[in-house]
Amino acid sequence: MKFVPAFVLAALMLGAPAVAAPTQKAAAAKSDTHAHVTLPSDVRPERYAINIVPNADKLTFEGHEAITVTVKRATKRIVLNAADIAVQKVSISCLPDAPTIAYDKDQQTVAFTFSKAIEPGRYTLALDYTGLIYEQASGLFALDYQGANGKQRAIFTQFENSDARRLIPSWDEPGVKAVYSLTVQAPAGQIAVSNMPVAAATPAAGGAQSVRFADTPKMSSYLLFLAVGDFERVHRMVGKTDVGVVVRRGDTAKAQFALDAATELLPFYNDYFGTPYPLPKLDFIAGPGRSQFFSAMENWGAIFYFDYALLVDSKLTTESDKQGIYVDIAHEMAHQWFGDLVTMAWWDDLWLNEGFASWMENKATDRFHPEWKIWLQTKAGEQAAMSTDAKAGSHPVITPIHDVFAAANAFDGITYQKGHAVIHMLEDYVGPDVFRAGVRNYIAHHAYGNTVTDDLWSEVDKVSPKKITGIAHDFTLQAGVPLISIAQAKGGLTLSQGRFGADAASKTPRSWRTPVTIGGLGTPWKTVVSAKAPATRGAAGTPVLNAGQVGYFRSRYAPELETRVVAAFPSLDAKDQLGLVYDSFALGAAGYAPMSDFLAIAKSAETAKEPVVARALAGQLDGLNDLYQGQAGKPAYQAFARARLAAAARRLGWDAKPGEPDNDAVLRRIVLVTLGDLGDPQVVAEARRRFTAWLAAPDSLKGTTRQTVLQIVANQADSATWEQLHALAQKATDTNDRTRFYRYLGVGHDPALADRALALALSKEPPATDAPELITAVATNFPDKAFDFAMAHRAEVDVMVEPTSRTSFYARLGGASNQAAMIAKLNAFAATAPASTRGEVTKAIAAITYRQQIVEKRLPEVDRWLAAHPG
Ligand SMILES: [Zn+2]
Repeated sequence: MKFVPAFVLAALMLGAPAVAAPTQKAAAAKSDTHAHVTLPSDVRPERYAINIVPNADKLTFEGHEAITVTVKRATKRIVLNAADIAVQKVSISCLPDAPTIAYDKDQQTVAFTFSKAIEPGRYTLALDYTGLIYEQASGLFALDYQGANGKQRAIFTQFENSDARRLIPSWDEPGVKAVYSLTVQAPAGQIAVSNMPVAAATPAAGGAQSVRFADTPKMSSYLLFLAVGDFERVHRMVGKTDVGVVVRRGDTAKAQFALDAATELLPFYNDYFGTPYPLPKLDFIAGPGRSQFFSAMENWGAIFYFDYALLVDSKLTTESDKQGIYVDIAHEMAHQWFGDLVTMAWWDDLWLNEGFASWMENKATDRFHPEWKIWLQTKAGEQAAMSTDAKAGSHPVITPIHDVFAAANAFDGITYQKGHAVIHMLEDYVGPDVFRAGVRNYIAHHAYGNTVTDDLWSEVDKVSPKKITGIAHDFTLQAGVPLISIAQAKGGLTLSQGRFGADAASKTPRSWRTPVTIGGLGTPWKTVVSAKAPATRGAAGTPVLNAGQVGYFRSRYAPELETRVVAAFPSLDAKDQLGLVYDSFALGAAGYAPMSDFLAIAKSAETAKEPVVARALAGQLDGLNDLYQGQAGKPAYQAFARARLAAAARRLGWDAKPGEPDNDAVLRRIVLVTLGDLGDPQVVAEARRRFTAWLAAPDSLKGTTRQTVLQIVANQADSATWEQLHALAQKATDTNDRTRFYRYLGVGHDPALADRALALALSKEPPATDAPELITAVATNFPDKAFDFAMAHRAEVDVMVEPTSRTSFYARLGGASNQAAMIAKLNAFAATAPASTRGEVTKAIAAITYRQQIVEKRLPEVDRWLAAHPG
């Protein structure tokens, strides 16, 4: 699954610090089944034959299941997962009588108790039942859109982490793999898509068609997929695989980019994993709408994307969107092996799927689009993860998940971005060829099976002269960020390790075996640093800590070395420039270094030639600007920040230059929008001028420029502009465009307009999946308002969000605040949320506390420095 991170506020970094490193023994204990809440294991499914008859208009469906089960121990009782399911009839092939049926709503199970014990053997369990079609993305859900013939509805499924139980009573656990034979009744003329190709289509009652798909291989329930709608499919053979993109009728031109991307990526993955893609076809299915939590889902052979994450429209899509689409395609394709063919045994090891796919998306994208500098870009996400990891509420990459309801907590920056950073570091440590050899063996040995993380490390260790299991345990079994410090002593350099923590809870000492590379000394100095063993070496030159920035740690220079590395900034590699921008801010914000280090680096970074470095700087400056709201020092700070972006703004201008690199276009948008936020009157005036001209001549703006203008105008909207944007939202025909316009209604700085946006979210005017987006948008500038509103209308807001993600949704709204009162509100909210889902609340509170700390302690430092360094 491709997870959608919390607000851009994550641009504000933080840091972290040490206890003894976990041992092999502790790791071994983790691999055992600890207290997971799972179904009884005395009955197991082998094959599900499922027939679904949807009634899309009424948002209900009928289901018929014949499950081939193996009874391993005699039992009278069979327990399955089911949610919002009503079973009408149930029977087992060995007994004549019907069992009693008992539902457990909280545990989402249904139990069938028979009159006598079923002896071990193989039987068919048959069920007739009914269920619900939802309007948010969980279980079987509907998305409405304006088609050629007016309002149309298509249906799709979304099961991760545990919502297959909303379509089929089942053993809905990743470790229970089975074969699925799915049949669906579809309206005549519509297309039905599932994991496998259509095996047969026969006429059914009322002019409908009964579409049966070929049997899947053995797989986990969360990977099953079904969609039915007025679709078209464009496809081509890539080797032995039929690769297709399924879009709504009329959208095939928008599918070309995705089809081309998949065509170049599939052979790359077939080679990398050493096992060819195992299914006969691979579809990418677009759905009109969005979720607050994910953009795409790796259903085996039938990857689902919301439109914005898959389709390219030359008038609307920005360069940044296009890069994101490519990366999302690479991510979900990597899952076809890592996650689908080989699956984690339980949600504890979710990171095995997500950390790996998040790393591989970059490796694959960089292979085909080196000009995007994706490894540099990925640092922003890693920084957000490091920020979380340096505060209370963080968790180890491999984290105990008690039950499926707690699993939603694990879809976060630690699992994805820290996971990806750790894999990148380990690959660098053993070398890419050795790492790939280990991965190939892992896939070959565990195909169609389930694993724990140590299964991967042991395959790499078997082929690698340098062993990784110890280092991997240090970084995956404990939370936190190492702090590597470098100092000059008696003619030599000394490296030492501590822990980087932005709050008291994250400063407990811990130890990691950390691979560290030091550049700037001629031959790179590579070593492994631990808390017990500082490393020392004589050296001449200006050392660059974490050269190449592949290590997951914060870098701190002793003052004299800091001065030298800042002086050397213009000649450093872009990766290391980026590292300095991020580390200096994080160290300053958490109090490990003076904020002046960051301010001095900001002055150097404005000269950076690499667009990604300039973007990182803009992000840091914008994040600090948010904290200056209502502060006396704001005008001086904004003047300083605007000056740092002036050179980039001059170079880029407003309009794309023929043949310019994509990353220039991306940077242009970020620089202009940030300057708008920083109150640059010329930028705001020019955006308004272009907006007015565009209203009269809609072809005058497209792609990135169009979004830049709209975003600046929306951020600065007055009542009249808001009305204009509202009218545009109402008449937008493209679903992405429509969603964006609704979002723009929430992002302004005028509190009265924020109130109007919130009221609009509940008005039923915005389509079902755009309404929560509007509340989220308001939270970017008015988190307290958005949270209070959502709490006051909780029953109405609850139904706007997928059930397993509700706690996270509210926590994220409040988590963008920096008000002490919000901490109390979040605690009160947490008391009403299921205990296993409260992790996001803890993280939100830690983030608020951190921002308060910056406002109280660091902004005065910045103010003093700015007063002493005018201009
Ligand atoms: Zn994923």
